[in-house]
Amino acid sequence: MKITPDASLLPYNTFGINAMADYLIEYNSVAELQDFLKSEPVISNRILHIGSGSNLLFLNDFKGVVLHSLINSITKVNETSGSVLLEAGSGVIWDDLVAYCVENGLGGIENLSLIPGEVGAAAVQNIGAYGVEVQDLIRTIKTIETASGLEREFSTAECRYAYRESVFKSSLKGKYIITSVIFELQKQPEFKLNYLHLEKEVIKNGEVNLKNIRQTIIAIRESKLPDPKTAGNAGSFFMNPVVSKEKFRTLQSEFPQMPHYYISEAEEKIPAGWLIDQCSWKGKSIGNAGVHDKQALVLVNRGGATGSEIVHLAEQIQHSVKERFGIGLQPEVNYI
Ligand SMILES: Cc1cc2nc3c(=O)[nH]c(=O)nc-3n(C[C@H](O)[C@H](O)[C@H](O)COP(=O)(O)OP(=O)(O)OC[C@H]3O[C@@H](n4cnc5c(N)ncnc54)[C@H](O)[C@@H]3O)c2cc1C
Repeated sequence: MKITPDASLLPYNTFGINAMADYLIEYNSVAELQDFLKSEPVISNRILHIGSGSNLLFLNDFKGVVLHSLINSITKVNETSGSVLLEAGSGVIWDDLVAYCVENGLGGIENLSLIPGEVGAAAVQNIGAYGVEVQDLIRTIKTIETASGLEREFSTAECRYAYRESVFKSSLKGKYIITSVIFELQKQPEFKLNYLHLEKEVIKNGEVNLKNIRQTIIAIRESKLPDPKTAGNAGSFFMNPVVSKEKFRTLQSEFPQMPHYYISEAEEKIPAGWLIDQCSWKGKSIGNAGVHDKQALVLVNRGGATGSEIVHLAEQIQHSVKERFGIGLQPEVNYI
């Protein structure tokens, strides 16, 4: 276990915010985590578990203990004629897991290539891209209860997954620490290529197979999204709003060119980036906080921004979108 008092969290968040934590504790095993939780009375609101910090925005220093998992094993736990169950430690870099699966001919996960972060957080966030969400692959989540240090397993149903939502982000927030996740991967996967122009792009690059799908997605993502190493960011800052069909029809009559995705008979999803772009925010800045010039959904640290500066910009954007479209944008990023 590595314990760092007065730790700078600058290397631990992709927004590049220089916040401090009283302690940073990095553990290598479930036993080490349990020892820490059982060794002293734990006050859960003074504990923050982080992954790679790619969906966090620190508004202040963190007065408490920041925990980080270094459990980074990938193990095959079962295999049938059609699929393989893999258990990945919470500290495994998400894209390393995707690369491992693709290398070993295991599919279902390839559309989630190059999403930053670690396996534990992926299961908290229900990460998604190109028509796939991680909930489609998760079978079991192994956790430790923060208050007691005791083990508990969650089935996928118990995680109450929805769009970028899970029980770990809502009613059980902070109460359980994910230590590993069991995924089911397919040996003969059905590729999901019907998201926007993905199929066309894959075919342009060659054969339709796992490796080519992964390479195509990596290339698209690299061309569209800023690299946090050069411009601090947390990917999509806001969630795409879901509106009722009635509201959607009213908006569509006023803005016929508005893009939208079918959710159900009752609801449609509207890309938040389009709404923000229509309010002319793309490329604009307030102080050191800015809106990315290629993708209006991504807010960037133009250098030395504080968490409060980013939030101020986010609030101005929310205000503009509300005024013009009557839609309240919700942040996807976790404010700390
Ligand atoms: C350039 C860029 C592109 C992105 N693209 C996408 C995308 O396409 N799709 C998408 O869904 N997301 C995307 N994201 C957001 C981000 O990658 C995901 O939300 C990711 O899952 C965050 O992982 P992390 O390890 O960095 O978690 P962190 O940001 O460190 O933490 C996220 C949340 O998980 C909690 N947490 C972390 N680890 C654990 C654990 N072991 N146990 C319990 N709770 C834990 C934290 O407390 C926090 O609430 C993008 C981000 C960036 C910077």
